[in-house]
Amino acid sequence: MTTAGVQRPKTSWARPATRAVKAGTADPGRVAASPDRCSPAHPDEVRAVASFAVSDDERQAFAVPFAEGEYDEIELSLLDRDDEDNRRLLIQAEHPEFHQALASGQREVHVGGATVNPVLHIAMHEIVANQLWANDPPEMWETAVRLLAAGYERHEVLHMLASVVSAEVFEALRNQTPHEIERVRAALTELPDSWERQRAAIPEERHMNRSERRAAARKRPH
Ligand SMILES: [Zn+2]
Repeated sequence: MTTAGVQRPKTSWARPATRAVKAGTADPGRVAASPDRCSPAHPDEVRAVASFAVSDDERQAFAVPFAEGEYDEIELSLLDRDDEDNRRLLIQAEHPEFHQALASGQREVHVGGATVNPVLHIAMHEIVANQLWANDPPEMWETAVRLLAAGYERHEVLHMLASVVSAEVFEALRNQTPHEIERVRAALTELPDSWERQRAAIPEERHMNRSERRAAARKRPH
């Protein structure tokens, strides 16, 4: 495989998080995420978030929540979340802004001032979901817990983790080196600062703080 054509993906992960569709009640993101909070979480909430670090069910509910409703003529509640292919469908269902593009094979979608490749976006979500599902590496979930406690919402946390995965895939391809877990661990410790720097590079949102971005995201159609 040649890497001559490998370029840093144009896809930006730093875009407003979208709401999960009909997520089940076991959505740990809701525990930590108060929509407009800018200050650190109250210590009690941090403890509440940290407590589900010990439960596989809750970690997996964060990775790919139980969902109801129809997507692509499939009843989501019947899907087996232990199955990777089924998890892909659930992840796609959580991205209504891509449904039309995914169905028609469209390669670029403009969302929130950023150009997104929906196939790549879903693929990176899948990697993150699979790693969280298996808790391997455990630093993915540990980082997610830390970011939830800091007040970030579930889908945004998934995008933050995906930004690390995406950068790692790019580095491995560009340098023709194997995947380096230490590089991933180091990148995870850089969150959320690396994410906020990436945010600052998006012109539309450059001057917004986190709560303003969330308000803007809520006004956009989902
Ligand atoms: Zn997403």
